[in-house]
Amino acid sequence: MEDLLVIGAGIFGLTLARKLQRAGHRVTVVEAGAVGAGASATPLGVLAPHAPDTWNPKKEAQFRALVSLPDYLAELEDETGIATGYARCGRLIPLTTENQRSVWERRIADAALNWQGKAMLERVERPDPAWLSAQAAPFGAMLCGLSAKIDARGYLAALAASVGEAVRTGLVLERLEQGVAIFATGERIMARRIVLATGAAAFAHLPHSDSGEPAGRGEKGQAAVLAVSGDVGARPIIFHDGTYVVPRGETMVAVGATSERHFERAETTDALLDEKIARGKALCPALADARVVERWAAARPRAADRGLLVGPHPVLHGVSIATGGFKTGLAMAHMLDIGSVS
Ligand SMILES: Cc1cc2nc3c(=O)[nH]c(=O)nc-3n(C[C@H](O)[C@H](O)[C@H](O)COP(=O)(O)OP(=O)(O)OC[C@H]3O[C@@H](n4cnc5c(N)ncnc54)[C@H](O)[C@@H]3O)c2cc1C
Repeated sequence: MEDLLVIGAGIFGLTLARKLQRAGHRVTVVEAGAVGAGASATPLGVLAPHAPDTWNPKKEAQFRALVSLPDYLAELEDETGIATGYARCGRLIPLTTENQRSVWERRIADAALNWQGKAMLERVERPDPAWLSAQAAPFGAMLCGLSAKIDARGYLAALAASVGEAVRTGLVLERLEQGVAIFATGERIMARRIVLATGAAAFAHLPHSDSGEPAGRGEKGQAAVLAVSGDVGARPIIFHDGTYVVPRGETMVAVGATSERHFERAETTDALLDEKIARGKALCPALADARVVERWAAARPRAADRGLLVGPHPVLHGVSIATGGFKTGLAMAHMLDIGSVS
């Protein structure tokens, strides 16, 4: 019998496996595809705070996650020698109406208070039109100094290296019973505790609520990577109306993401991504002649209340759940508490 079995080698499963190992547990991680086969390998890698006004415990928790992540990553990089590409690059939010400008200007004071001197929110009267189109920002832009980016694939590779031999790939979970995971090959793995970290697929193993609602669902997202001419490495992220433009390295830019509630296949891309790329190009003139080098899609794990779903399985003794990162899993994963799953 295994001590702890973690199912799913995304950001949640690998982070928990590493923490559990460090706490002295013997951990095995099993994964249907390869490490990072799910939503965690997003090319966007945005780490952005909620708006700093109407502060609440959820915003405070995300703020604490964002400000503690650099030290956590530095330690992971020291241990593994693998770069995670973290950079506090900032995020430009174009202002398209006068009302929007006054709302955001009021938030400058909220940021000064709630971000506790760790970062600032500033107004930029005239953003560089070579990066943020002047037409897209008729009232200037806000620069969110707390926003950062990460190379999600590097982050996953570093976690996998840290976890080491414990990861077994090619095992597809079919069903769970008390203390046993049963895989498509027929293999049964017994464990003192099983942690279900299969992202959007985890909800299928959870009962519906009393009112018949599922515990969560997958929400598909598509994103692309474009090669640009010229060095964009020092540019900030741009975010407008659901569209992100994220410099990746010196000559790559990621654009995304779509949000699709209804879909047949999570991993295919289509015309919705082309529309998203067009929106990215309208925001950012540097993308005008850019060439698409990658099209990517996956299902985000969206819990019914959009929060994290971490804790004991409501029915199966010896099984825990760790999912629900939705759009912020990369920023939040390192804050997961192993006490709630072990
Ligand atoms: C387009 C898009 C863009 C995103 N951008 C960002 C962003 O910029 N910043 C951010 O913080 N978050 C972003 N997210 C959200 C983020 O990806 C998720 O919050 C996070 O990755 C969820 O991690 P996870 O480990 O729970 O799930 P996953 O990464 O999906 O991991 C689940 C793992 O379980 C495996 N698995 C599934 N079913 C089985 C099975 N039956 N048996 C065995 N293994 C199985 C999968 O192969 C996968 O490897 C984005 C998501 C999408 C789709």
